[in-house]
Amino acid sequence: GSADVQCDVLVLGGGPGGYSAAFRAADLGLKVVLVERYATLGGVCLNVGCIPSKALLHVAAVMDEVDHLKAAGIDFGAPQVNLDTLRGHKDKVISKLTGGLAQMAKMRKVTVLRGVGQFVGSHHLQVEATEGSGQQTNGQRQVVQFQRAIIAAGSQAVRLPFLPDDPRIVDSTGALALKEVPKRMLIVGGGIIGLEMGTVYSTLGARLDVVEMLDGLMQGADRDLVKVWQKMNQHRFDNIMLKTKTVGAEATAEGIKVRFEGLDGTQSEGVYDLVLQAVGRTPNGKKLGAEAAGVAVGERGFIDVDVQMRTNVPHIFAIGDIVGQPMLAHKAVHEAHVAAEVIAGELQGNDQLAKAVFDARVIPSVAYTDPEVAWVGLTEDQAKAQGIKVKKGLFPWAASGRAIANGRDEGFTKLLFDDSPEAHGHGRILGGGIVGTHAGDMIGEIALAIEMGADSVDIGKTIHPHPTLGESIGMAAEVAHGSCTDVP
Ligand code: FAD
Repeated sequence: GSADVQCDVLVLGGGPGGYSAAFRAADLGLKVVLVERYATLGGVCLNVGCIPSKALLHVAAVMDEVDHLKAAGIDFGAPQVNLDTLRGHKDKVISKLTGGLAQMAKMRKVTVLRGVGQFVGSHHLQVEATEGSGQQTNGQRQVVQFQRAIIAAGSQAVRLPFLPDDPRIVDSTGALALKEVPKRMLIVGGGIIGLEMGTVYSTLGARLDVVEMLDGLMQGADRDLVKVWQKMNQHRFDNIMLKTKTVGAEATAEGIKVRFEGLDGTQSEGVYDLVLQAVGRTPNGKKLGAEAAGVAVGERGFIDVDVQMRTNVPHIFAIGDIVGQPMLAHKAVHEAHVAAEVIAGELQGNDQLAKAVFDARVIPSVAYTDPEVAWVGLTEDQAKAQGIKVKKGLFPWAASGRAIANGRDEGFTKLLFDDSPEAHGHGRILGGGIVGTHAGDMIGEIALAIEMGADSVDIGKTIHPHPTLGESIGMAAEVAHGSCTDVP
């Protein structure tokens, strides 16, 4: 067929997966077209996800730290919050990063087409221009012909169908818009996104309720990590409703009336000024005309891929949230590099590149709450459930000089080593978790140790600088090895 634009690689979606794939493919010498419906690159992560939430969480953590400082004799008095300035600060952080991405795309000669993409054949994508798309008029259509395509169309928040349409009921995007601080806020769904947003709003003055269907908050993390977080955050909540479903809601003048039902049948209700739906995210797979390209999309909208990120159609790849859990930006970026390298290898006859595979052993998770909760690899709960024999090294921060000096010694660092008979007492590290300030910045070391197959001696004999929180990783390894005698 006729096409307006031709390229080696078409990338559909400009989030962390999409821009990373486009940039790597361009760096490898390919002609790349990147299609994004919104006016800025960066996808969910930069515009309405990781980055704005962390900009706000940083501010909240500093405000909360001021409270901790009272014990050290420092009192700044009550904080004066200017919500408009705070919102402006957050927006500036976003535009700095999205502007940087636009620059990088230009430098690499990646063609960015603004518009909604739909496959119209196995080698053709139609792009309907959206608002703010430069030269094209809104609604104008272009067809891109590609040799290879990478689908990186991401995900969106799940909407509970029985909640009414009301500006006081928002998803994470609405919560990040930070219109006002409610008095009473309900978080539906006790996962990372809900608890991060709850932290921000509660520090700014909201009282929180949270409702969760499962039997604990922050599912996926080891329960003993979560326990420490919960103890330090109990003061934010009026009600933590576990094993409870949200079954209905009604918009009234005095607030959103929400009805709950416990798994045991008990009924209850609450009235809120703001309700945040944070019950998960659903992939955008069903909105791309994938069938026109022959790409199989699962019932829930996920696209299946192999270890090279290839779909059932050999010249079409998919990466990021749209291929499945965990829906995390760092996973999307690594998958992006694999897809771009495989494609470059195939188009350029480079066997080495063409053999690229996604073979990460582990993908770390972080809740950027206060304290932070971070974990990677096998958790203790999983080890128990799977009958894997592990040796645990736990180092409580109450014994960390730096944590005590910081006035924040509530955390701990835990490492798990293979203790199966075949390991002969020298088992490799299988997982780790940290709860405490800056846990997210430290978890990468444990991920590296797992990727390298380190054992407790490798980690324990690595000299960590004193006094640091990171030292707790070395100490935990020494505890596991049975050689921890002193306390830093
Ligand atoms: P996305 O970022 O969703 O990007 C997909 C892009 O494709 C979008 O820009 C979309 O507009 C575009 N698109 C879709 N369909 C079309 C179409 N038909 N035509 C044109 N364009 C299209 N992850 C972390 O790792 N760390 C965090 O701290 C973190 N915090 C988060 C906080 C929140 C509040 C949320 C919601 C998410 C957070 N995440 C975090 C998850 C992270 O944002 C996602 O995992 C990541 O953005 C996925 O990248 P992606 O490239 O797969 O998709």
